[in-house]
Amino acid sequence: MRIIFLGPPGVGKGTQADVIATRFAIAKISTGDLLRDGVANGTSLGLKAKQYMDSGGLVPDEVVIGLIEEKLTAPESQSGFLLDGFPRTVAQANTLSEILKTKNQSLDKVVYFVLPKEEIVRRLSGRRSCPKCRAVFHIESIPPKKADVCDFCCTALVQRSDDQPETIQARLSVYEEQTAPLIEYYRGTNILCELDGSGTVTDVQERLLAALSGS
Ligand code: AMP
Repeated sequence: MRIIFLGPPGVGKGTQADVIATRFAIAKISTGDLLRDGVANGTSLGLKAKQYMDSGGLVPDEVVIGLIEEKLTAPESQSGFLLDGFPRTVAQANTLSEILKTKNQSLDKVVYFVLPKEEIVRRLSGRRSCPKCRAVFHIESIPPKKADVCDFCCTALVQRSDDQPETIQARLSVYEEQTAPLIEYYRGTNILCELDGSGTVTDVQERLLAALSGS
C-alpha cells in the first residue's frame, strides 16, 4: 500500500501516520521528522533546512526531493509507504510521480485531512513533542501523565519553534499558497479521499481505517 497524507499542519497527520504505518506494515516517511533530525544532528542538510523551517517557509524542493528519493529506494519502502508532509508543492508531486513510474509503482490513496482553522491553531499552539522519541502530546487533549515530561522516555517535552503563534500563521499561509493546490491535483486521479480530522485521535483513526480498507 502506498499512501499520502495531505492537509494543513496541525491537522493530525503525524499522529495518525505512526498507527497506520504500523497497522499496514509499511514505512512511514515524514519529511518534517527527517529534516528535524538533520537540524538536531547538525548535518549539512539540517543546516540548509533550518532557516526555512524556523520561519515557517518550505525547504527548497531540491533538498526535500533528494531526501525522499533516498527513502523511496530504500529496502524498507519496497513493501509500501506512507508519506507524511510530502509532497507539499506541485513540483514535488510531479517528481514523486516520475520516481514511482520508473519503479512501476502507483499510489493507492491520498488522504486529505480536513479541519476548521481555529481548531488547527488550537492544536498547534498546545502541541508539545518529545525531542528524543518524537512522541506528540497536547496540553489539553492529550496531556502527558506528568506535566512537560514524555510518558515513554521521560525526556522533557518541548514546544516546536515553528509552533509559536506568528510562525503558525506563516505556515498556514504557505500551506494555502503552495500545498492546497495539490487537492485538485490529486482529485483528478480519483484516489483522493477527504477525511474529517475532528474529534479524538481514536475517532479519526476509526474513520481513517474505514477509508483505507479496500485499498
Ligand atoms: P512538518 O513537521 O511536516 O510540519 O514540517 C515542518 C517543516 O519542515 C515545514 O514547515 C517545512 O519548513 C519543512 N518541510 C517538511 N516537509 C517539507 C516538504 N515536503 N517540502 C518543503 N519543506 C518541508
